[in-house]
Amino acid sequence: MTDRRTVLIRYDEIGLKGGNRKFFEKCLLRNIKRVLSGTNDIIYRSPRGRILLDIPASLGAECTVRLKTVPGIASFSIGISMAPDFDAMADLGVQWIEPALESVSSLKFCVKTRRSAKSFPKTSPEVNFEVGSRIMTKLSSRGLTVNIKEAEYVLEIEIGSSETVVFDNREPGLRGLPVGSSGNVLCLLSGGIDSPVAAFMMACRGCRVHFVFFDNQPFLGRGGYDKVLSLAKKINHFQARGTLFVVPFQDMQAAIRDHCNEENRIVLYRRMMYRIAGEIAERHGSMALVTGEAMGQVASQTLENLAAVSCVTSLSVFRPLIGMNKESIISRAKEIGTYETSIEPQPDCCSVFMPKNPVTRSKIPFLERDEEKIPWQELQDDALTRMEIIKVDDL
Ligand code: ATP
Ligand code: MG
Repeated sequence: MTDRRTVLIRYDEIGLKGGNRKFFEKCLLRNIKRVLSGTNDIIYRSPRGRILLDIPASLGAECTVRLKTVPGIASFSIGISMAPDFDAMADLGVQWIEPALESVSSLKFCVKTRRSAKSFPKTSPEVNFEVGSRIMTKLSSRGLTVNIKEAEYVLEIEIGSSETVVFDNREPGLRGLPVGSSGNVLCLLSGGIDSPVAAFMMACRGCRVHFVFFDNQPFLGRGGYDKVLSLAKKINHFQARGTLFVVPFQDMQAAIRDHCNEENRIVLYRRMMYRIAGEIAERHGSMALVTGEAMGQVASQTLENLAAVSCVTSLSVFRPLIGMNKESIISRAKEIGTYETSIEPQPDCCSVFMPKNPVTRSKIPFLERDEEKIPWQELQDDALTRMEIIKVDDL
C-alpha cells in the first residue's frame, strides 16, 4: 500500500454561497494551512466542492486532531487516491475489510459511491455493484454479506473530475463557516462558563473573535486575569489572531458601589462594560459585541435588564446563548475544553460588590440618574488609557 494518504475535506454551508463561494473556500483553505503549519510534506488541492490534502500516512492521526479545530469543515475522511479502476478499488477494499473479519463470524457491508465527475461512464449504483461484487467474490465465504441499510462497514468511493478517493471513515468537523469570512467581533469574556462558549459559537459563524476582560485585581487578585488568559488562548485555538483587551475596572466599580443605588449596581457595571467595549470595538475594528448572557439565567439577565444594557451602545449585541439552558451550555463548554478552566474558583467582579436585592426590572431613567452621580466618562477614559492589549497568539 502506498505511504501517502488523501484527506478529503467536506464543507457544507459554503456550498450555498453562490458568487462568494470562492472567497469562503479561500478562507477555509488558509485556515487549514495555518493549523497544519509545521507539518511537512503536505500537498493541497481544491477541486470543486472539496479540499484534498495529500499527506504522508504517518501524519494521519495528527491531521485528524488539528482539523477538528477548524470551523467551516463539515466532515473529513482519510483515504487513498487511485485511478477509478474497479479491480484496484476492490483489492483495496478487501485489504481493509479482511482484518475486520478476523474477529467476527459475519459482517454486513456496502459500497457507497459519489460521482461528481459526470463524465465518468458508470453511474454511482453501477460502481457500487462493480466494486461490491468483486469484494464479495473474495470475501463472501468468510462471512461478508451486503446490507445497505444496516451496513457495519461502509467502503466509500468519491469519483471527482481529477481524482478518485477510496475511504472507510468519516470524522465530524465543527461545521459552520470559516473564521475570517464574517469580520471581527468583540466578546466580553469573564472567567465564567458562558462567555467562552458564546465566543466559540461566533468563531463557528466565521467571525474572528477578540476579547475584553474587565479586571478588578486590587479587590479580587490575579485569579480572574489568569483564567481569562487561559480561556482566550483556548478559544483562539479555533481561529488564531485574536486580541485580548484587559480593562482595569476597579475604580469604576468602586465609584458605582460608593455613589449609586445598591440595587442597580450590577446593571450599572454592565452598562459601563458595554460602553467601554463599544469604544474598544470601534477603535480596533470590531463590528459587534458578544456576551454570554442567556434569558433569565440570573437577575441581571431579564428582558428589562438586557434592554437596559444594550441601549448604551449603537453596536449590535450578539448573545448566542440567549435561548440555551445551563445544562446545554455546560456540555458545550466541556466539548470545547473550556469548562475545567471556567469552574476554577474565582470571585466574580460583579458578585464581589453584589447587592442583596439586585433589581430585576430596571428603569432606564433611574439608571441614568445614578450615573449622573459619578464621573463615568472620566473613569472610562482613564480605564481605556490604562488598558492592556495582548496578542493571544503570543501567549
Ligand atoms: P459567564 O459564565 O460568562 O461569566 P454568567 O452567567 O456568570 O456568565 P454574568 O456574570 O451575569 O453571567 O455575566 C454576563 C455576561 O457579561 C458574561 O457572559 C460576559 O459576556 C459579560 N461579563 C460579565 N463580567 C465580565 C467581566 N468581568 N469581563 C468581561 N465580561 C464580563
Ligand atoms: Mg460571570
